[in-house]
Amino acid sequence: MAADREILHVDMNNFYASVECLYDPQLRGRPMAVGGDVLARHGIILAKNYAAKAYGIRTGEALWQATRKCPELVIVPPHFDLYLHFSRMARTLYEQYTDRVEPFGLDECWLDVTNSAPDGAARLAHRIRTQVRDELGVTVSVGVSYNKVFAKLGSDMKKPDAVTVLSRRNYRERAWPLPAEDLLYVGPATRRKLYRRGLATIGDVAEAEPMVLNQLFGKWGLVLHQFANGLDASPVKKIGQESVIKSVGNSTTAPRDLMNQEDARIVFWTLAESVAARLRAYGLKGGTVQITLRDNRLESMERQMRLSQPTNLAGELLEAAMQLTRRNTSFLHPLRSVGLRACRLIAEDAPEQISLFDGESRIKKERLEREVDALRARFGHGVIGRGILLTDPLLGKLNPQDDHVIHPIGYFGD
Ligand SMILES: [Mg+2]
Repeated sequence: MAADREILHVDMNNFYASVECLYDPQLRGRPMAVGGDVLARHGIILAKNYAAKAYGIRTGEALWQATRKCPELVIVPPHFDLYLHFSRMARTLYEQYTDRVEPFGLDECWLDVTNSAPDGAARLAHRIRTQVRDELGVTVSVGVSYNKVFAKLGSDMKKPDAVTVLSRRNYRERAWPLPAEDLLYVGPATRRKLYRRGLATIGDVAEAEPMVLNQLFGKWGLVLHQFANGLDASPVKKIGQESVIKSVGNSTTAPRDLMNQEDARIVFWTLAESVAARLRAYGLKGGTVQITLRDNRLESMERQMRLSQPTNLAGELLEAAMQLTRRNTSFLHPLRSVGLRACRLIAEDAPEQISLFDGESRIKKERLEREVDALRARFGHGVIGRGILLTDPLLGKLNPQDDHVIHPIGYFGD
């Protein structure tokens, strides 16, 4: 048997709040939170420091609710440019130790240190923990394990400024008693279904009959079973290098045939949002948009267009997809399934020409979409939806995370 991999998952604690406190020392020690204005009238807490947490303030709750719990709470608006800057500095620091660094959102990374930790992965984890604290001024928690899922779980187990090891020897004792939703990708919908079957802990999922999970969730159930048993073999991907990811795409079979452009627009929104979010998570932008249209005779076509500038914004992917749809079908035969893919990928921090006219508003859109990403990562996909998705209850219900009707089809490697 090949030797086990050694994987770290490094998670910056209270990321947005920590960065804000770093830049404004007056905030330190006082209860403070970063508040977002995503839904105009209903601002919510995006992050908070430990002093605010002591008042019972929770990420995701309404600002008015939070101030009722703690009237002296200081709420600052988010500064995504700063968070991006810190995110890149952290990545650069990790890359001193291994070239296998895979970001997950702005504040988390997996590191494969199999061949780069001569004194053991736990020692290296502590070294990185102190180095980030001393050099960047924020704390991290690190999970150490032989697979990505347990490494991620470990980084959540003890915070802040801590290291947790989940080994083959201790995972049953340490990971299995934890609630099932602590596992990566187990969102509210999956959790509810599991609980209904009496599967409350990670151990319950691990020891369940794979057949039962398969019945509940299809293939995803089997993946879940493997995750809970520490059998996740997915590699830590090197991101930001050439030809790592060729394209990022999603496709879906609609719950009913798509009769016209309005129908197609609703479904493409869901696809565009999911593709855009994944591009952002990978730190990439796409220069070409490709769509697949399959009609109810099961004839399909693929069309693509070059964008005037690379993007990872859902709105821009959508407009390209709709332009291609308008040009290529008159809905003589209704559509059964559609796909959307971003190709010609480049690193998002690659220099690009920003037109003077749209630079500012694009940056704002990017921030807004990132904010939505962060909320969805924490509270599930359904926490924020586009108004258009409400116009058709059936089509608008497509949900990439809840029922897995959308299949990620990103390609890795050559
Ligand atoms: Mg974090």
